[in-house]
Amino acid sequence: MTTANLLDFDLEGLAAFCERLGEKRFRATQLFRWIHQRGASDFAQMTDLAKSLREKLATAARVEALPVITQHESADGTIKWLFDVGDGNAVEAVFIPEDDRGTLCVSSQAGCAVGCRFCSTGHQGFSRNLTTGEITAQLWFAEHFLRKHLGRAERVISNVVMMGMGEPLQNYAALVPALRTMLDDNAYGLSRRRVTVSTSGVVPMIDRLGGDCPVALAVSLHAPNDALRDDLVPLNRKYPIVELLEACKRYLAHAPRDFITFEYCMLDGVNDQPEHARQLLDLVRSAGVSCKFNLIPFNPFPASGLLRSPQPRVLAFAKVLSEAGIVTTVRKTRGDDIDAACGQLAGDVKDRTHAAERMAQRRTVILHPASRQAATPTAEEQ
Ligand code: SF4
Repeated sequence: MTTANLLDFDLEGLAAFCERLGEKRFRATQLFRWIHQRGASDFAQMTDLAKSLREKLATAARVEALPVITQHESADGTIKWLFDVGDGNAVEAVFIPEDDRGTLCVSSQAGCAVGCRFCSTGHQGFSRNLTTGEITAQLWFAEHFLRKHLGRAERVISNVVMMGMGEPLQNYAALVPALRTMLDDNAYGLSRRRVTVSTSGVVPMIDRLGGDCPVALAVSLHAPNDALRDDLVPLNRKYPIVELLEACKRYLAHAPRDFITFEYCMLDGVNDQPEHARQLLDLVRSAGVSCKFNLIPFNPFPASGLLRSPQPRVLAFAKVLSEAGIVTTVRKTRGDDIDAACGQLAGDVKDRTHAAERMAQRRTVILHPASRQAATPTAEEQ
């Protein structure tokens, strides 16, 4: 008999499951607390549940963690886990400690079908969506491991960012119950402002998220015009920038924060000129989207054919935006000694989409003239 993985359920789903077992719905709250607040996976431990319920659970349910393949801890305290999700696929999650918060970066898919040029996950192609249980299991494991590891009785993870492997809004049905569990006071009780979904711009799903489960939204913009964004973030061909910004504006009516965060990966000679910053200003002003910019130093990997922008250019870019009154931060790179920095997450994926071959055929990014002179073009750039 197949058993239900209780990590697949938000509280509402668990209540429905309890009813199917012939139990009262409120039992689900007790069970939910045991699993998520106390990290229990053995029903025999759950001593305030009736023995008859524990016996039913033992035959009908399980709490299934993801096997950890590797764990790496960086000198700066960042911890990266590689989890086995079966059938040759593995996904990563990263814990980033800071003075005032602990952030977990969570994966939503084994691989990713969007295929952004600057992203190692995109180069690996796509295998499959994670289940709700597999998304939730990353937080469940990390939170309870970290409490023991750091000797803390209280909550360690205060923030979750859906910025690991995958495009979360292309796995919407599994994502939303996982988000609800993160927010639930009977589970992790995270603030909506501290749970962030990062999307490359799946416009219809941005609208749905605003209605179903509004949390903080980060949008991977990475380019100030459609010609460049079509190449860097291929989803732009389906949902061009103007449509994306309109969706962002609609989302703000529901969002727990009064701004959208635009992520912008700084690529040497590609999208990092002052003119690009000025184009961005024109875009967000004409769309009327309240926003912040987060400039991300690119973490180069050979297959991308791209390089990191020099720091002075990043700072000059930030200055154009800041001086126009837009809050702009330059992301600190964390955990790059263990390949846990942004864009470096790349578990093992059985690529069913032949991404590597496709991407090798469309390396057509136009280098800025100044950089083109300085750089020796590779065969891929010609
Ligand atoms: S940046 Fe995000 S959407 Fe783009 S390929 Fe990587 S994981 Fe997918």
